[in-house]
Amino acid sequence: MRGFSGRTRNLCVIGWPIAHSLSPAMQNAAIRAAGLDYAYTAMPVRPEALPEAVAGLRSLGFRGFNVTIPHKTAILPLLDGADEDARRIGAVNTVVCEADGRLLGYNTDAAGFLNGLSGAGVDAAGRYAVVFGAGGAARAALWGLRKAGAQAAVAVRDAAKARAALSDMPGAADEIFSWNDEAATARVTARASLFVNATPLGMTPHTDEAPPVDWRFVAPEAFFYDIVYTPSRTRFLREAEARGHRVLNGAAMLVGQGAAAFERWTGVRPDTAAMEEALLEALRRGA
Ligand code: NAP
Repeated sequence: MRGFSGRTRNLCVIGWPIAHSLSPAMQNAAIRAAGLDYAYTAMPVRPEALPEAVAGLRSLGFRGFNVTIPHKTAILPLLDGADEDARRIGAVNTVVCEADGRLLGYNTDAAGFLNGLSGAGVDAAGRYAVVFGAGGAARAALWGLRKAGAQAAVAVRDAAKARAALSDMPGAADEIFSWNDEAATARVTARASLFVNATPLGMTPHTDEAPPVDWRFVAPEAFFYDIVYTPSRTRFLREAEARGHRVLNGAAMLVGQGAAAFERWTGVRPDTAAMEEALLEALRRGA
């Protein structure tokens, strides 16, 4: 690895809080593997300081930055443009600072989500998916599925709230239903070949939780994808595996979104194995 110099290009992630972000470990591993003269750090930015922080990163000549909770939507009006994924999802997770000073927003979560599936050998095209949850991660999954030619139903605890939340994404979901509605659950479950958990249910420390699946109606070849990555096997995935289903956790999505951001900033396709190794090591250390 090169030492830092006056020519080192700067990258960072902004969020609040940010201390537990896994992005510095992943991105610096990609920088080292590519032998590039870049540095990636984590910057705590309070919600009220977002406009000032974005202006600061622009004037400091940063090459780009990641954006995480709670700034992913609030940053949109502060940018000079956003790609279709970011506009459809309504959130930005990656900003590129162009040489002419323009800040362009991207959302690489949908690409990361799809990379996870393709890495597991799952072609989403033509599939019918059940996505649990209707928050930011679900929006990225729904948009990714739609781009890949899949249809999706959304299962949530409060269907009216989810319909309102997704009203700006017409066509993203074939159906939005409450997982307490037994008839809808049976009908949609029997039709699906892909189940995606996009809620925090089952995430450490609440590892006994899981979104409800009515296993009586699940097809034997159905694939289970949990975008949570701590623990590596959530209850959702453990229960699916116990019934012989193939499963995938959210680490591949996290690496995939980071890899797509890295390529936008550097023009170099990163070593995703090095990124994943750094991610797993950071998770082992407790970030
Ligand atoms: P979010 O915007 O807060 O949305 C969470 C969704 O889950 C909402 O639909 C919410 O429903 C539902 N939910 C939350 N707690 C629930 C509970 N106790 N019971 C039932 N439903 C509940 O969160 P998000 O940003 O989408 O993140 C969701 C999860 O995805 C997090 O665990 C996050 O770590 C993970 N994630 C992973 C990646 C990755 O790269 N692998 C990327 C992004 C996020 P209500 O509206 O009813 O509360």
